Amino acid sequence: MKKIRFECLPPALWGKNIRSELGQQQWDISRKKAYKRHNHRCCICGCAGKMNAHEVWKLKISQKNNYGIQELVDIISVCDDCHNVIHIGRSLSIGIPFDVLIQRYIQLNNISYEEAIDDFDYIDNKLIVLNSVTRWSTDLSNLSKIEGGT
Ligand SMILES: [Zn+2]
Ligand SMILES: [Zn+2]
Repeated sequence: MKKIRFECLPPALWGKNIRSELGQQQWDISRKKAYKRHNHRCCICGCAGKMNAHEVWKLKISQKNNYGIQELVDIISVCDDCHNVIHIGRSLSIGIPFDVLIQRYIQLNNISYEEAIDDFDYIDNKLIVLNSVTRWSTDLSNLSKIEGGT
């Protein structure tokens, strides 16, 4: 089990999240609960400091690839450096060097450079499939379970 994984969300899902679906107020509540649940520490490297709430999604696509559901499965707290690795596509687009991101990925997972590059290529290819999905819906029904409710 890898400590940190690259996440790949197709552009169609960028900006579709708790904030966009339920509003800023609910997002503020949910992200603060996430920080508290995880004792204000990074769920990946364990460091303390300024945290980001990261939404973990499960993407389910129909066999014909014409319909997809993004299901919220967790909200974790992560530090800036780990968050940048998770969102490697976005990080590259804002100018964070590939080497910085891949080296952190290698260290946290204790794997070889080759394996890290394989993982990156895998995500890159998966995005091609995800980008072919034309309709997406967002499923936030796990939110209360994630937050310890019913
Ligand atoms: Zn971290
Ligand atoms: Zn995130």
